Amino acid sequence: MKLYEFQGKRIFRQYGLPVPQGTLVVTAEELTKLAPPLVLKAQVLVGGRGKAGGVKLCRNKEELSGCFSELMRKQIKGEVVRAILAEEKVDILQEYYLAITIKGGDATPVIIASAAGGVDIEQVARENPERITTVPFSPFFGPTEYHVRTVARGLGYSDYRELKEIVFKLYRIFRDLDATLVEINPLAQTPTGLLALDAKMVLDDKASFRQQQVLVQLRQEQSSLLGVAVEPALNDDTITYVPLSGTVGLISDGAGTGMLTLDLIKDAGGQAANFCEMGGITSPEVMYSALSKVLANAEVRSLLVVLIGGFNRMDEMAAGILKYREDHGLKVPIVVRMCGTMEEEGKEMMRQAGLTTYDDLLQAVQDAVQFAGGKE
Ligand code: ADP
Ligand code: MG
Repeated sequence: MKLYEFQGKRIFRQYGLPVPQGTLVVTAEELTKLAPPLVLKAQVLVGGRGKAGGVKLCRNKEELSGCFSELMRKQIKGEVVRAILAEEKVDILQEYYLAITIKGGDATPVIIASAAGGVDIEQVARENPERITTVPFSPFFGPTEYHVRTVARGLGYSDYRELKEIVFKLYRIFRDLDATLVEINPLAQTPTGLLALDAKMVLDDKASFRQQQVLVQLRQEQSSLLGVAVEPALNDDTITYVPLSGTVGLISDGAGTGMLTLDLIKDAGGQAANFCEMGGITSPEVMYSALSKVLANAEVRSLLVVLIGGFNRMDEMAAGILKYREDHGLKVPIVVRMCGTMEEEGKEMMRQAGLTTYDDLLQAVQDAVQFAGGKE
């Protein structure tokens, strides 16, 4: 789950990380109570707001009301702006980048730091990767002083103690909230010390079972304040979605079946576009969500659904598929292989709706690969 900047900054403040004074505003009237100069920042979940015109410096009252209505009419990379963070204007001497995340390939948490922070960090990563320092640390002990020294060297920042406080607090947030990313870009050097001018946080949906309270509160805030639809917790807990790069969309009821089918797709000369496994015990709603996720990928040319009903009921799976078709239609050929619990009922429902089902897994895989355009 991604957090808005204002939510991330509130958490930063709770943990004692230095952030600018700021107020969240949703109406022009609330803004009249605040004194310029202020920086108005559109609250959206996409990055790169600065470059897209979503961050505005306003020196007087006229600029404030002008920028406010301009920002509230704006869409940033397709996202509608519904709230604005009005923040004190900070004098910036230098912009650093500092983040803690998990480096997937190495399965290790890392601190990432750069002296070339700010809105061009992606370009720095592409063109001057040597300007970015990556410091892996132990997931059991967290970052230690030694790691912070490496970060300080990478940043060329001399106040080691100040930096240590920031890195340690950032890590505490990362660990306490089961985050997959906590990013400060820019971490600004100001005449009075370091200040987190931006906050990006992504919380791990897989850990939602032990972060119920925090997540519910953050979600409710997002939905009530910003009109964002609240995803049912069910989706986060049970469905695993893996994006891949081929053309066959794949849904399976369990991970093992899915892994096997991925291999079979490859053997048949195809490539999976993505892969959704529903986590074993499922329902029509979960099947519906899985279809929404997999078919949202425009590269999908055919859809393969492989179901082995143990606890999972085939009539319910058929109900999910048919409901999805009724609501959205199916724009690509669908190949459904079903067996197990309530198999006959499920097949009958599919038959009556004019959809064939398969018994033979290999045949189903071959057809799905062929419908997707044949061997690659
Ligand atoms: P984004 O990363 O989405 O572009 P940021 O919050 O990082 O948005 O803001 C973009 C840039 O705007 C920052 O790099 C910084 O230079 C400037 N900025 C942001 N907040 C302030 C502030 N409170 N005072 C002064 N400058 C700011
Ligand atoms: Mg930023």
